Amino acid sequence: MPVDTHQNFIAGEWVGGSDATVNRNPSDLKDVVGTYARASADQARDAIAAAVAAAPAWAAFNIQERATLLEKIGNAILAQKDELGKLLSREEGKTLPEGTGEVVRAAWIFKFFAGECLRIAGEKVASVRPGVEIEITREPVGVVGIITPWNFPIAIPAWKIAPALAYGNCVVFKPADLVPGCGWALAKIIADAGVPKGVFNLVMGRGSVVGEVILNDKRVNAITFTGSVETGRKVAATAVGRMAKVQLEMGGKNPLVVVDDADLAVAVNCAVQGAFFSTGQRCTASSRLIVTDKIHDKFVGAMVEKMKTLKTDNALKPGTDIGPVVDESQLKTDQDYIEIARKEGAKLAFGGERLNRESDGYYLAPALFTDTTNAMRISREEVFGPVASVIRVKDYDEALATANDTEFGLSAGICTTSLKYSSHFKRASQAGMVMVNLPTAGVDYHVPFGGRKGSSYGPREQGRYAVEFYTTVKTTYLQG
Ligand code: NAD
Repeated sequence: MPVDTHQNFIAGEWVGGSDATVNRNPSDLKDVVGTYARASADQARDAIAAAVAAAPAWAAFNIQERATLLEKIGNAILAQKDELGKLLSREEGKTLPEGTGEVVRAAWIFKFFAGECLRIAGEKVASVRPGVEIEITREPVGVVGIITPWNFPIAIPAWKIAPALAYGNCVVFKPADLVPGCGWALAKIIADAGVPKGVFNLVMGRGSVVGEVILNDKRVNAITFTGSVETGRKVAATAVGRMAKVQLEMGGKNPLVVVDDADLAVAVNCAVQGAFFSTGQRCTASSRLIVTDKIHDKFVGAMVEKMKTLKTDNALKPGTDIGPVVDESQLKTDQDYIEIARKEGAKLAFGGERLNRESDGYYLAPALFTDTTNAMRISREEVFGPVASVIRVKDYDEALATANDTEFGLSAGICTTSLKYSSHFKRASQAGMVMVNLPTAGVDYHVPFGGRKGSSYGPREQGRYAVEFYTTVKTTYLQG
């Protein structure tokens, strides 16, 4: 293993691993971002043991000191936002402004939860029995296992680690094996901020090794997972099987409805941003553009014109709108879906071809399909790339029914200038997040995030709603 390999953080110590991941820049395959040690199954168990040992003291830790620690972490992330933004863009392929934006978001999440440390409240309730007092309080769950995907390598770890620590839990964190760089950098900041030994542990590596240990070890009281539906199902089955608390955030097939009275420029902007920015690699990406009859042709024409102006290139290059696909296997998935859509009879209105750029990377021109139906695979399965389908519908009612006709329910949007449609859509949409005249992707950090149906399972993440997952409720009865 190279001497400069980034190590795991277990029980307050930096330790090597069983082997290492070579993290490569998808914009420039010659550029090695770094090597990162993969923890062994035994090391993952050591991390869990360290978290168990640290849990009682951390649960009782002074809340002002806990708040100060989280504030310090948030400030350190902000102070390093340029380096971290560059690291993120290098390893994941988001453009530099997108990468830096994600880093800033991670910082504000820590600062938000620093405040939440001081707001852990309970209730005092009257009893139906004379002389009895009732108190309802919240306590930490204990040890939380955190498993994250590659597409938001710092924001998702932040929105799980910050509330876990704020509400008094100890953490065993496994970032995605494909992009461990930001997870490692965040761990370094947390360690340098002075987190007590064992309270926070980083175990990098494969899902099949480190992830499986976290899932199966009875000492891990709660598991929070973001990733694919396939892995999510497995996580849920294992966690529920041993009665651990579990929270899942998974895929999406998010609709953006464009009705006849929409402002065309707003609709195109929402669709382009939602479908193609961050290379379409967002669980909230607008991959189904559901457009009513009278505006359909104008919308498609304006989309194609706009797409011609988008620059797909090296994520670090100034002026790039869309970076590369994250890796070869995701590129193959995207290309396979483009082929599947063609075979199903969809018409490729723009893009979809592999692009060559100055540096050798996984560049794909964003693809727009028309003449699609909601029954086609391209409209039902998550591609997780810069590929969107336009579904033509008769009117608003058909648009709403089509939007809701999906196994997912993460985010849904509508572009309209009518109060009637926007108010109705807000109520009738079967998604966890609804956007009016805004892209389906792009959310605030201080409010709940999550979906319905096949997209999410368990309590919501983020904002004050995070308290539900990261604490357990106790009801105390007292006879005076
Ligand atoms: P993935 O399911 O392949 O991996 C997610 C994490 O699970 C990784 O850390 C991986 O190593 C781990 N893992 C894999 N097998 C495991 C196992 N057997 N046991 C335990 N852990 C295991 O997902 P991905 O490809 O990294 O991410 C893309 C997916 O994430 C997309 O489907 C996307 O929609 C979803 N996503 C959802 C949200 C959301 O909030 N809803 C946000 C971002 C990404």
